[in-house]
Amino acid sequence: LSEKLGGILDRLTGRGSLSEADVDAAMREIRRALLEADVALEVVRSFTDKVREQAIGATVVKSVKPGQMVVKIVNDELIAMLGSDSQAIDLNAVPPVPIMMVGLQGSGKTTTTAKLARRMTQRDKRKVLMASLDVYRPAAMEQLAVLGRDLGIDTLPIVAGQKPPDIARRAMEAGKLGGYDVVLLDTAGRTTLDEEMMTEAAEIKAAASPHEVLLVADSLTGQDAVNLARAFDQRVGLTGIVLTRIDGDGRGGAALSMRAVTGKPIKLMGTGEKTDALEDFHPSRIAGRILGMGDIVSLVEKAASTLDAEKAAAVAEKMRKGKFDLADMREQLQQMSKMGGIGGLMGMMPGISKMKNQIAAAGIDDKILKRQVAIIDSMTREERKNPDILKASRKKRIAAGAGIKVEDVNKLLKMHRNMADMMKAVSRGKGGPMAGLAKA
Ligand code: GDP
Ligand code: MG
Repeated sequence: LSEKLGGILDRLTGRGSLSEADVDAAMREIRRALLEADVALEVVRSFTDKVREQAIGATVVKSVKPGQMVVKIVNDELIAMLGSDSQAIDLNAVPPVPIMMVGLQGSGKTTTTAKLARRMTQRDKRKVLMASLDVYRPAAMEQLAVLGRDLGIDTLPIVAGQKPPDIARRAMEAGKLGGYDVVLLDTAGRTTLDEEMMTEAAEIKAAASPHEVLLVADSLTGQDAVNLARAFDQRVGLTGIVLTRIDGDGRGGAALSMRAVTGKPIKLMGTGEKTDALEDFHPSRIAGRILGMGDIVSLVEKAASTLDAEKAAAVAEKMRKGKFDLADMREQLQQMSKMGGIGGLMGMMPGISKMKNQIAAAGIDDKILKRQVAIIDSMTREERKNPDILKASRKKRIAAGAGIKVEDVNKLLKMHRNMADMMKAVSRGKGGPMAGLAKA
């Protein structure tokens, strides 16, 4: 997608505010990106309608292209929809606080139960009891018992022949008697959404009155995510969602779908098989994954926040006139430094990653950026304005001042010439933003 969207972004050259045509062109690509990321169709529709409305007429931040601006708006809205505030598991109730896990078989309920128990025990200093209500797979109860033993966390003793709601009651009883703060109920899933699973989950809920009902869902779930979340929410009532296998290569569209249809917060994400691989939900990370485009959004954000609009306008004016002196170059180098150095900048620009190698070959790194600023600092105002007067003796003095070799001064001057040429090219609409640097 990066490539395609990059193309669209480049073609949008309007100024000032976003036009309907700008937005529509970008929106077609966004729609495709969302579908590719497995966001459910109905969610894609409502989302793009919403964003379209916001984007048309929005002001374009100086130094940013309209297309990039659309992406920024899309990203912000995506984060808002995913839930910009990370919500913790609510333990604010009379102990033992029951928490119930639901979801399809293999979604990661048992693993998440152990992860959560570990976090609550180690980080929050709670006394946790885990109970497996999976009576269908003989190994399931043992799986939780093994996890508990490894972690030193108690599990409800296994009693053969009990029905899940009865086990839930027994777990709550044991929780009370044992003075536990939290009782985690790990239920049995099915391979598909079925009536039996829903009925059972509803019965367990009635038996234990869980304070939280968490839907555990694989982030690789595709279009089914909508039905899954809707069914569980309607039949059992959810308080939150846990997204597992974030470490896999799913695009995470399920997160948006589930959140959109249930309105329930995504509270946690599983990032691996081990019991410490549990994190609070980071909407920006998932939004980036869904859009799948390097990190153009943070580029736009950084550009908007760090570039001084006045200075940018002044440099742009000089560029138009074909003037770009060493003082301007210093400004640019510092701006680059602020934006995370060349490495950071490169990584954020889609389609430009191939240039990274050239840059590396040219030996330009962040340390060099700083050194170049230091070289320019050793020059007089006159020299900065008019680099042509820099002959051997002046170069020697500057090199001594900056603690470098004359050769390095020459390199800097060559780079300046390249940048100046590039600026001229850009002002005529040719060449990438970093073309001059790569030649240096
Ligand atoms: P359950 O049937 O819902 O209880 O699912 P399990 O907890 O037994 O998990 C099924 C498989 O998924 C196991 O092999 C887990 O190790 C694995 N798993 C669970 N969560 C994650 C995760 O966040 N990342 C990865 N890579 N694997 C996970
Ligand atoms: Mg299980």
